[in-house]
Amino acid sequence: MNNFLTIADARRGLKAGKFSAVELMEYYLRMIDKHQDLNAFVTINYEMAIGAAREADARIARGDDLPCLGVPIAVKDLFCTKGLRTTACSKILSEFVPCYESTVTSNLLRNGATFIGKTNMDEFAMGSANITSYFGPCFLRYRRKSNGSMRLVPGGSSGGSATAVASDLCVAAIGSDTGGSVRQPAAFSGIVGIKPTYGLCSRYGMVAFASSLDQAGSMTKTVEDAAIMLKAMAGYDCNDSTSANVEIPNYPDYVGKSIRGTRIGVVKEYLDGLTPEFLEAIKKAEGWLKDAGCEIVEVSIKTLTYALPTYYIIAPAEASSNLARYDGVRYSRRSEDANNIDDLYLNSRSEGFGEEVQRRIMTGTYVLSAGFYDAYYAKAQKIRKMITDDLHDNAFSSVDLLLTPTTPTTAFGIEESNSMSPIEMYLSDICTVSANIAGVPAISVPACLSEDGLPIGIQLIGPHFSEGALFSAAGVIEKAAAFSELRKTISVS
Ligand code: GLN
Repeated sequence: MNNFLTIADARRGLKAGKFSAVELMEYYLRMIDKHQDLNAFVTINYEMAIGAAREADARIARGDDLPCLGVPIAVKDLFCTKGLRTTACSKILSEFVPCYESTVTSNLLRNGATFIGKTNMDEFAMGSANITSYFGPCFLRYRRKSNGSMRLVPGGSSGGSATAVASDLCVAAIGSDTGGSVRQPAAFSGIVGIKPTYGLCSRYGMVAFASSLDQAGSMTKTVEDAAIMLKAMAGYDCNDSTSANVEIPNYPDYVGKSIRGTRIGVVKEYLDGLTPEFLEAIKKAEGWLKDAGCEIVEVSIKTLTYALPTYYIIAPAEASSNLARYDGVRYSRRSEDANNIDDLYLNSRSEGFGEEVQRRIMTGTYVLSAGFYDAYYAKAQKIRKMITDDLHDNAFSSVDLLLTPTTPTTAFGIEESNSMSPIEMYLSDICTVSANIAGVPAISVPACLSEDGLPIGIQLIGPHFSEGALFSAAGVIEKAAAFSELRKTISVS
């Protein structure tokens, strides 16, 4: 079996009978076993995984042909999976086995996917380094050239999914992105990550963090796979009141399509303060897009400087409200140490939530409290509107897509992350949160390696429902960057 199979490769191999779905699943289960030290998975049910693969083989034998049939896919542990533990990597949900399937995972199942297991993540998707998980940190297999002994993080919060794809522990994975949690770890791990338009993928059955920002996204080895995955995941769902009732184009058709004449805006605000190697990465991407016939223009979107503080008011506010449901009474873990109802709530929540989650709940309740609502939450909502208008009326009236770095740095070391203040950690989302605030789609694609030999990701942002255009442009960068060759030169553990 070839290493680093894509969905497209896996489907070809399965159809040609080169290997069976069971063999494919067994191969990845062995890979997960071999790389247990990465801590990419938190739950694997071997019987369920092999059973699903066996069923896929039977369907392949019957002549069924579906985009993901027999393809082992990893699922971030915040998508409810029927009969398979779903914890959001929190102690408070550590015993939760859903009796229903999320819409995104059922859509994937309908398209033939076989689930290999649930991936590690920051607790309740709050974090940028995958260090707040109840099950311990997840590691990146890559190492810095200058310091081979330092263990690096894959980014967060979908760190497990990122590492699983980047280390070839599965063919593709899904994650969720509230402020960058698909794109930032994709950039750190040298893979492709897309956050679609808000409403394109149903949120039904996803453990909620900040409902007006949360979106499911895919994490894949190639842009083509990202297109295949999104086509399989997206679609209207009456169980999500914010689900968009739009026709889902055949995204794979957009990969390889000409982008001649596309106007690309390079956002000035995101270039200020970038290190020389990140500036150079942007320059390279500009050159590749120009060679493909794009026009590059510099744009200024002044309100973007407020995106991060706005996000860190709205996201905790919504989180504090969403997390109020975990009271130790229904499906969440109950404290043993309680003699009355007040203690039961207090102790269940104090024992069940980690430090970062408690920080978000406190920030959220503070900004929503009667005395501070107008000063923080109401103001943040107004600024959110300004940012959204600025993107639409200003940026997307003069350019088709925006080009930015995905992150301001490459992957950090685990010790570096542990010593970062919460604010320093929040700053790693500086380039990603605006797409969530405005509900527009954005994709991260690996562009080059840093001097220290780590992946640098480039982000493309488009107007609502421009996923097709994003796949076309990201495909151009992917091809020109020839990252599949660069990947082979990265030092690994
Ligand atoms: N890192 C951001 C946060 O901690 C984004 C998380 C996410 O997208 N789920 O909130």
